[in-house]
Amino acid sequence: MEYTVTVLTPLVITSGKKIYLDIDFVVEKGRVFIFHWNKLINSQNKETFISDFSLNKLVKLFEHQRLSWNHLVSYKLESSYKPANILPFVKNPFSKPYLPGSTLKGKLRTLYLLFQLHNQDKLKNQLLSNLKKLTSNTQLKILEEEFIKNLDVSVSDSLPVDINKLLLLPTKVCSIKERGAEFKPFTIYVEAVAAGTTFSGYFKSRKVSWKALLPKFSFIIKNIIKREIDFFTLGNYHKLVQWYEELLKKVDEQSDFYLQLGWGEGFAGKTLFSLLPVNTQAKLQKLFRIGKRPLIWHRDCGKQVIPIKGKNLYNCPFCNRKNIEFTEVQYSPFPKTRKLLLTPSEEYLPPGWIKLSLF
Ligand SMILES: [Zn+2]
Repeated sequence: MEYTVTVLTPLVITSGKKIYLDIDFVVEKGRVFIFHWNKLINSQNKETFISDFSLNKLVKLFEHQRLSWNHLVSYKLESSYKPANILPFVKNPFSKPYLPGSTLKGKLRTLYLLFQLHNQDKLKNQLLSNLKKLTSNTQLKILEEEFIKNLDVSVSDSLPVDINKLLLLPTKVCSIKERGAEFKPFTIYVEAVAAGTTFSGYFKSRKVSWKALLPKFSFIIKNIIKREIDFFTLGNYHKLVQWYEELLKKVDEQSDFYLQLGWGEGFAGKTLFSLLPVNTQAKLQKLFRIGKRPLIWHRDCGKQVIPIKGKNLYNCPFCNRKNIEFTEVQYSPFPKTRKLLLTPSEEYLPPGWIKLSLF
């Protein structure tokens, strides 16, 4: 069976390493030139080149041997930014971006688990009783692994796509504060595969019909989208609320399967967290926030309230109200941040929403 993944919002799958300005790349005249030292080393006598390498020698090489930048440059990206470092997209040995099969498989596994949990009370109870013993985020991941280790599916890496599909995009981290969304002051630069790009690869399963199964997963995707709508509604971020509402319509109407992949989908997207009962979520939330005080604000005035010790009540120093009920306050959402990409059309969008089709 074949799969195709069509990119709807720029997709980021990081290779796990960072590259740095003036070491791994330079920026000149609106272009980022990414070096590949192996390319230069391979064009020289390897042993002598490495054993007495110096910057002087490098300069001489370029001056006297008429080496051009092409001997060093692996690929270039158009960009008006000058980042200090970049998170590169995963690439094959020929520097071409591809979609790792493990990324797609990991996502399908999580969806499968969520689906099973929804349909099997026994499995759900077993998992919930295990959850009570959890003390860390990593343990949640391990627990998940145990539940799906025998999943019947193998997914190949996709064929590589052309380097011109890559964009260098700034990312902002958006958090929800008292009344409104707020961008953190720093910017993360990432290589992202442009919207409209298609990845294709192979998909194998012995017993399970994934083609029949995928549409049954859409309620999970809808829940995830609704959670995002809640998040951005809370942040008064109307453009993104609208964007997600459009996506929700597509999920409802069309036979295609939509999901979010890769970097930026966050904790809740990768784990089964989103489908747990609310009180279990609250418990885990408390657990994972050890040392951090969750932000709680008054719905009326939007200012931070102070919890009264030992009671489920709050005081608001701003509007001077005492003994405010739980229902009158708002806890900051968990996870409390979202990564947003600034697309070439100057729009902030969540990274990695894709359309998956099986043939
Ligand atoms: Zn108040």
